[in-house]
Amino acid sequence: MPEGPSAPWAQGGLDRAALLGWLQEDAPGRLENLWGWADGVRQRHVGDAVWLRGLVEISNHCARSCTYCGISASSPPVGRYRMAPEEILEAAEKAATYGFGTVVLQAGEDPGLTGPFVAEVVSSIKAKTGLAVTLSLGERPDEDLAAWRMAGADRYLLRFETSDLGLYGRIHPDMGGASDRLAQLCRMRGMGFEIGTGVMVGIPGQTWASLAEDLEIFRSLDVDMIGVGPYLESDGSPLAGGLGEALKKSAGAEQVPADETTTLKVLALARLVRPDANIPATTALATLDPAGGRPDALRRGANVVMPNLTPPRYRRLYRIYPGKADVHETADVSWASIEGQLETLGRTVGRGPGGRGAVDVGYGDRNWFKPQL
Ligand code: SAH
Repeated sequence: MPEGPSAPWAQGGLDRAALLGWLQEDAPGRLENLWGWADGVRQRHVGDAVWLRGLVEISNHCARSCTYCGISASSPPVGRYRMAPEEILEAAEKAATYGFGTVVLQAGEDPGLTGPFVAEVVSSIKAKTGLAVTLSLGERPDEDLAAWRMAGADRYLLRFETSDLGLYGRIHPDMGGASDRLAQLCRMRGMGFEIGTGVMVGIPGQTWASLAEDLEIFRSLDVDMIGVGPYLESDGSPLAGGLGEALKKSAGAEQVPADETTTLKVLALARLVRPDANIPATTALATLDPAGGRPDALRRGANVVMPNLTPPRYRRLYRIYPGKADVHETADVSWASIEGQLETLGRTVGRGPGGRGAVDVGYGDRNWFKPQL
């Protein structure tokens, strides 16, 4: 019974207290209800199509010192790379060949990815492939963002990571000016981007109350895309050491665990508060549970998967956390089985760009074709 009088929002909606209650729920029968509601709302609002977005990690240079991240400026030495425009274009062309409707360009906050460089890459991808282009390049000045939008970029992903500003300050040190990711998201929406955000679940120091507030923000910002994954310790990072210990101690019994069930609860609740959002089954979840992470997420509200198209020689260097599930998965290999896997879940591969509220345009649309592999 996905909706109806017993649905969690039927009487008075999913208010703060209800969100808090569901986040801390561990009765198996009640959780089954939550999964069923989220799956039903997903089915009703965005259908059975699963959208595939080809992920290209275009640079692991980073000027920031985020205390959770394995490629931050202060992380233990890691071989740095920045893909050449031709390499990025080649990866985007792969996405088109595989029939994916979107390519996602992600990187550290890399000043070497200048405004004009990215604008040029975006316009050549648009000209050569017609794919939807999503950018995830961190905090950037409006001037760059506007130029990228003008060049044809469709969407931008920028997680606010946690709504607890005190905690945010500990995990994401400022570089001069204050970091205000929510403000950047609002400005990007004004520029015409579809906006995506999200959080990590189980950050040391993260409390249940702040996680409920994160969900309220998804709802009130009316975001188009929501990514949630478990926090994973990156060895050698401050958050995996003394800083993390101290933050956990300060949260005490209110500390949110960085586990699969809690992540799935956040994902399911995200679907309930934002019924037509695009929600990925994240790589971080698949890292925690290689066999079950993605299918479980797809059964509890998710409708997007992001196969990694970064050339393998770079992929192993984009080590934001260890053991990243997609380091050994290549889209070429996974593709053959993904359609079958989705079928077993009663789902289909979405064709077309798959923007907010998209319906599957089907194989008949002249711009989209069934991949020949
Ligand atoms: N530089 C870009 C992209 C960062 S990587 C930006 O800052 O937006 C994309 C996401 O990976 C981050 O937003 C963060 O939520 C997640 N991530 C980074 N390190 C992680 C870790 N150790 N565990 C889990 N998720 C992590």
